[in-house]
Amino acid sequence: MVCHAADQTSIASQYGPTANQIIDAALHDDAGYARLVTLCDRIGNRLSGSENLLRAVKWSAEEMKKAGLTHVVTPPVMVPHWVRGKESGAIVSPVERPLHFLGLGMSVSTPPEGITADAVVVSDFAELAILGKKVAGKIVVFNAPYEGYGRTVTYRVGGASQAAKQGAIGVLVRSITPLALQLPHTGTLQYAPDAPQIPAAAISIEDALLLKRLQDSGATPRVHMEMQAHMEPDQEAANVIGEIPGSEHPEEIVVMGGHLDSWDVGQGAQDDGSGIMATLEAAALIQKLGLKPKRTIRVVFWVNEENGGRGGEAYLKWAGETAKNHVAAIEMDEGAERPLGFGYGWSYGPRRVNAYGTEVKRTVEQQRSFAICQEIGQLLAPIQATQVNQGGGGADIAPIVSQGVAALSPTTTAEHYFDWHHTQADTVDKVNPAEFKKNTALLAVLAYILADMPEHLAGR
Ligand SMILES: [Zn+2]
Repeated sequence: MVCHAADQTSIASQYGPTANQIIDAALHDDAGYARLVTLCDRIGNRLSGSENLLRAVKWSAEEMKKAGLTHVVTPPVMVPHWVRGKESGAIVSPVERPLHFLGLGMSVSTPPEGITADAVVVSDFAELAILGKKVAGKIVVFNAPYEGYGRTVTYRVGGASQAAKQGAIGVLVRSITPLALQLPHTGTLQYAPDAPQIPAAAISIEDALLLKRLQDSGATPRVHMEMQAHMEPDQEAANVIGEIPGSEHPEEIVVMGGHLDSWDVGQGAQDDGSGIMATLEAAALIQKLGLKPKRTIRVVFWVNEENGGRGGEAYLKWAGETAKNHVAAIEMDEGAERPLGFGYGWSYGPRRVNAYGTEVKRTVEQQRSFAICQEIGQLLAPIQATQVNQGGGGADIAPIVSQGVAALSPTTTAEHYFDWHHTQADTVDKVNPAEFKKNTALLAVLAYILADMPEHLAGR
């Protein structure tokens, strides 16, 4: 570990008073949360391809200008346009019960009359594989217990194609959540190129468990599903970008943001209204306090994170030659629960071993940068957010991070994030104003110091 005592005092002494000033301002600021309420209540959910997303783009650009950001632009991005349409599902035998049912994003439709078939409940891919062609002509129900989002989401993303390869005609996925409240959670699926595309929907945990109990009782549950889901031609939307220009090195950029789009249910409040509104307010506060960071702080609301990732890719293209001038990328996309600190990584994702299973060693520069991050973390003591972890990033910044840019993201308790993620219940009442302000404080301190300190963080 390379660690210079003299430099340690320098981050603390150089930025301690400013950090306190920023934190104090953030904790007394109501404008950010008010803007989040407006986004949620007056615009609402904003799926790629929807009118609401276009309204959100326009409104966001205006809000960036009102917040004092300059160079506000909305470079166009072509986004996929998936439409849910009407949908429903029910158990038809041995009992009749409606299912708490929500189609998965990007799913195809059923025929107009729907499909009715025997259901086969499996708890994982291994059980499905053992059944082989026995699931042909049936509806496969993935009843996988929640073992953390990253692990269990594979059934939502890949379950339809796995089942289709064995001849299934439809798929129901137990919602990817730790909390059973008869609430279905949507999210994107991905069809494999070598499997027939079959309709797929989420059901509540309770409904999945009911189907499992019916099967265990010796019955063969029969299920009906009806979905009008379909793709329409790609539609033009946009990333929304604004800046605080740097006072000495405006060409060097600290980019931060989250994603503007959401699923078509609820309000996209935690996912990711809270992220974009907190990053905007962080920049607004720096501006309001009259702080003049040496480098440019750029706020970006990326579009189409949920079902395509086109915004992040388009941003890298839009940046062009200037991509190499990015010194850090910060993404907030885990909700604005109580912040614990932040992660710093030099590649996307938590994987820190190479293909041979050997741990990848941090370079001397990365160790040095990690130590700087820990020093910045100490300045977040007033909001108890001093934990600095290795590994940070997000789907929207992945393309720019692939160019060797340091990736950072706030970490929170994330205690309830997946309780209402991608559901009708992701509404603004779930965002606690006091915790939201702490997230804003964290982002503002982090972005300001990264944009002003003499050194750069090491990227990949
Ligand atoms: Zn998100």
